[in-house]
This record gives sequence, structure tokens and C-alpha cells, in this order.
Amino acid sequence: MSYWVKKGLKTGVVSTRYPKQEETASGITPGLPQITDNINSDDLISVCPTRAIHKTDEKLLLESSLCIHCYRCSRDTKEPLSWSEGFEWASFEKNSTPFSSTFGHSLHICVVDSGDCGACLNETKLLNSPLYNMHRLGFFITPSPRKADVLLVVGAVTQQMKGALLKAYEAMPTPKKVMAVGTCALSGGVFEGGFIAENGVSSILPVDITVPGCPPPPLAILHGLLSLAGRKNIKRGTK
Ligand code: SF4
Ligand code: SF4
Repeated sequence: MSYWVKKGLKTGVVSTRYPKQEETASGITPGLPQITDNINSDDLISVCPTRAIHKTDEKLLLESSLCIHCYRCSRDTKEPLSWSEGFEWASFEKNSTPFSSTFGHSLHICVVDSGDCGACLNETKLLNSPLYNMHRLGFFITPSPRKADVLLVVGAVTQQMKGALLKAYEAMPTPKKVMAVGTCALSGGVFEGGFIAENGVSSILPVDITVPGCPPPPLAILHGLLSLAGRKNIKRGTK
């Protein structure tokens, strides 16, 4: 018996049991900052570089689609924010729905890097690693938009990538869904309002589901895919 077969038998299954079981291993998520009821500090608003922390009707709010995980609200302020531990962050945009059960058993995903820094793409790539092993759930990456059910977009959509992204979307057969992954794809992130990129994917395409994070960990992306396939009940956005 070869070395690798022996090693495989000895190691056993290393893939996460999520979504059948909750995944609690340390280091699988960087978490997200959380506003708690008793916090009311202008200091927090001033340290946040992307306006993720803001006030509406005198209430302090946190918009995760703008958060770039800079940790300033936890390290550089008198009243630090606490961090949530989870990763089930995906949410449907208003009026968007999951695939029907006929199409939800298996999804083919076309990934488009519309100008990311490399981190969101890398986290997406990890879904194919033994630890996350998304094939076990019926999710497959395809390079061709003509064979894709889901257009997974990372990056803020640079002017150079805009045309290619639109072409990829038009080439997809229906029913098709668009998934925006990472703060840049959700809002433009640090490029928001700049001349080099759009303010996220929704500036040019109808987005169905969003996954915040900078970058979101692989399990957060997996949660988004499971939600699109109709295998997870998730919250709905207001946009
Ligand atoms: S981590 Fe940074 S971007 Fe996110 S809410 Fe805190 S200060 Fe704002
Ligand atoms: S969201 Fe953050 S990690 Fe993802 S591409 Fe933008 S800057 Fe990079």
C-alpha cells in the first residue's frame, strides 16, 4: 500500500462537518465587530475609516457591508467594540430568493475577480481544499459562465473588468444568481467613490446575495452558497 493511502487512512476525515454540525474550531473566522446596546461613543465613529459605524436617529449602527476589518474600533478607542464569533453572515437582497429545489441540489459557480486584492479570491479558492471540500455538498467551480448557475464576484469592479463581468453575466443561462463576496464587492470598500472602480457589484448587476467580510472566511462563503441552494434559512437585506 502506498505511503499516501496509509497516511490518508491514519489521518481520517479532516473535512469540516458544517453544515451538519456547528463548526467551532479556533481560527476559522475573524468575526465581525458588534454594536452593543450600552455603547454610545462618537469616538467610535471618528476611528472608523469607512463609515461602517455611523449614527441614525441618535442610535449607533454598524453596517457590515462597509467594514474592512481594520480593528480600529477594538484597539484605538476608549470604548472598544466586542467581536462576534460566527460566520453565517450572508443575506439575501430584497426580492431575491434561493434556487428552487429542482436546481438547488448542485450548483456550478463561475468566479470572477473584478479587481480584488487577492484575499477574497484566496478564501474562495480554499473552498476546494480538503478542510472545506465543497464538492461533498454538490458545489463545483466552472471556468465557463455558460455552464454556471452562480456568478460569484470578488472585488470592487474596476473599470477594466466591468465589460468582462457584464459579458459573463449575459452568457449565463437562466435561472442565474449573483453572489457578491467581500466588502469591496458589496460597497466598493476602500475604493468607494473613487474613479478607478464602481461602488461594488450592485452598481452594474442585480445582486441576489451578499457575504460581508474583508475577506470573509471560507465558511461564510459556504454559508452563502448553502443559502442560495435553499439549504439554509437566512436574513433578508433591505436594499
Ligand atoms: S473594524 Fe474598522 S472598518 Fe470595521 S467597523 Fe471597526 S473601525 Fe470600522
Ligand atoms: S474585501 Fe478586503 S480582502 Fe476582499 S478584495 Fe476588498 S480589500 Fe481585499
